[in-house]
Amino acid sequence: MTKKILILPGDGIGQEVTASAKEVLDFLIAEHNLDFSIEEMDAGGTAYDKFGSPLPEKVLAKAKESDAILFGAVGGPKWDDLDWDNRPEQALLSLRKELELFANLRPAFLFNELAAASPIKNHIIENLDILIVRELTGGIYFGEPRAIVEDENPPYAFNTMVYNENEIKRIAKVAFESAQKRGGKLCSVEKANVLEVSKFWRSIVSDMAKDYPDVELSHQLADNTAMQLVLNPNQYDVIVSSNLFGDILSDIAATLSGSIGMLPSASLNSSSQGMYEPCHGSAPDIAGMDVANPIAMIASLGMALKYSLDQKELSDSIDRAIKEFIAKGYRTKDISTNDEYVKTSEVASILIGILKNG
Ligand code: NAD
Repeated sequence: MTKKILILPGDGIGQEVTASAKEVLDFLIAEHNLDFSIEEMDAGGTAYDKFGSPLPEKVLAKAKESDAILFGAVGGPKWDDLDWDNRPEQALLSLRKELELFANLRPAFLFNELAAASPIKNHIIENLDILIVRELTGGIYFGEPRAIVEDENPPYAFNTMVYNENEIKRIAKVAFESAQKRGGKLCSVEKANVLEVSKFWRSIVSDMAKDYPDVELSHQLADNTAMQLVLNPNQYDVIVSSNLFGDILSDIAATLSGSIGMLPSASLNSSSQGMYEPCHGSAPDIAGMDVANPIAMIASLGMALKYSLDQKELSDSIDRAIKEFIAKGYRTKDISTNDEYVKTSEVASILIGILKNG
């Protein structure tokens, strides 16, 4: 059956990094005669400018029937003053919600050659290799009721943090299974000392541990994890957390590895449909300058091949090619330690050269 891929470049450097990933994808399709169909559509601010919506109906419909969505990034100052429903970020939030992409997998790893680009001392981050599993469609980002109440004195605002048992079990299952395939350690992170939702989360995850005797489970408070990620990140293998805490912790983890331009992510639902995107945003400060690092986007394509497109070997070959790219000394501007660097538009053809020889 033809596998359907939808590319949503979005805004800013999203356009540039998805172009690089598409170059690699086109090469793989031709080289391995893959039965893939590719379609490209607008999302985010770019879609708002053309169609008056950050996620036009036809884009959402196409996304629903795709096996994998390659998503660049959305947002930028041009659209900052739009009302809530029209902001570019709504494209992402709606896709996550509509496709029930509840499991966000964010690997954070360090190529030791790039340790100098990390803000953390080398001996602390050497061999960094952790996976953050973040719940993506529940919790306080989606909880109702929510409001800003302006007509009271004093005015106030509130959100609702809520998880039901099924939501916690399905994300914990993804995390336990990921730990089984990796180093066998899972740390569940919440704030069980102050939040009922977290106490509930902890008791459910604890109960599930007996079904995974090969996984060593620990629990940690989110503020401590934020600190430990900087002090001793190698104590972790897999971290599982809610939408809010996972958001913050995965950005800390991303920073450890030197550049946010290196880190991919996958957001999956229960039928292996997935959205694949770099961890970074649209980087308006460098958009259009041909200096963005497209590796996070290309590695996200690698995750798509593994999780949604049944091409694990090709996924591994992309990971190996990226390793070789770094080992051979190629650097984009964000990870270069001198004035020499390869441009965004040059990265894909270098990787394709490595893949051809690989
Ligand atoms: P950002 O990730 O876009 O940029 C942060 C910093 O990292 C900038 O200095 C940028 O130049 C640099 N950077 C990011 N990606 C890079 C890459 N691939 N190569 C080299 N350098 C890179 O975050 P921000 O500046 O806080 O947000 C900019 C816009 O992006 C905002 O509108 C925000 O809402 C949006 N955003 C979107 C997403 C998304 O689409 N998933 C995620 C985060 C932020």
